[in-house]
Amino acid sequence: MRKIVIAGNWKMNMTPSEGSAFVEELKLKIKNIKSGCEIVVCVPDIDIAAISAALKDSGIKLGAQNAHWELKGAFTGETSVLGLKELGVEYVIIGHSERRQFFGEINRSVNQRVKTILEAGLKAIVCVGELLFERELGITTEIVSLQTKIALNGITAEQMDSVVIAYEPVWAIGTGKTATAEEADRVNGIIRGVVAELYTPQVAAATTIQYGGSMNAANAAELLAKPNVDGGLIGGASLKVSDFTAIIAAAQ
Ligand code: PEP
Repeated sequence: MRKIVIAGNWKMNMTPSEGSAFVEELKLKIKNIKSGCEIVVCVPDIDIAAISAALKDSGIKLGAQNAHWELKGAFTGETSVLGLKELGVEYVIIGHSERRQFFGEINRSVNQRVKTILEAGLKAIVCVGELLFERELGITTEIVSLQTKIALNGITAEQMDSVVIAYEPVWAIGTGKTATAEEADRVNGIIRGVVAELYTPQVAAATTIQYGGSMNAANAAELLAKPNVDGGLIGGASLKVSDFTAIIAAAQ
């Protein structure tokens, strides 16, 4: 009913030549895996042209890690969805915790970016998740609900076909600490409930909600077996072909 999406977030790792070599190896390794999931690699902007060429006819989708909410203009250093689209990008990660922590991303700008991405015909991977102190305060539900509601403000039910939500507890990103499969499933269920409230239960049932936060070859199967976990957004473990391939295989 809904797509399982396994997306690698390379962050600021891999040069164009390193990324191209990675993709060549990945294409070979996944040949024999009968995983029905959508595979995405979200690469640094400077790698996009090279990786787009390397992915040609592979079935693996190309993703970016951010995009500006304006299509063009005086925004030095920013990236337009028009250029991303021309280069074959299909997915754009928006609202990643590292953008929120280091680059001033706020819920409102997440929403502006999501709108522009969808209007351009691309797909958004919208990241939500609580900080450690928010979890300790017992307000995870409030935080992820608020982030989801603001991110989706003004997005139509039809456009929700092009939205993937990634639940990424910030304390689990790059730390080696993973939410338990039960907890990931529970919070993903809360997010699905918010989508049902904003739209309809049918839209919620059709929305892909990933888990992200130290997902790796060893824990992926347990996380992905949960009914509300529709894939993963994977940082560190997406940089090694063997680990990323094992996660793809676990999504079968
Ligand atoms: C991420 O960058 O979205 C992420 C989940 O990173 P990691 O898998 O390294 O925790």
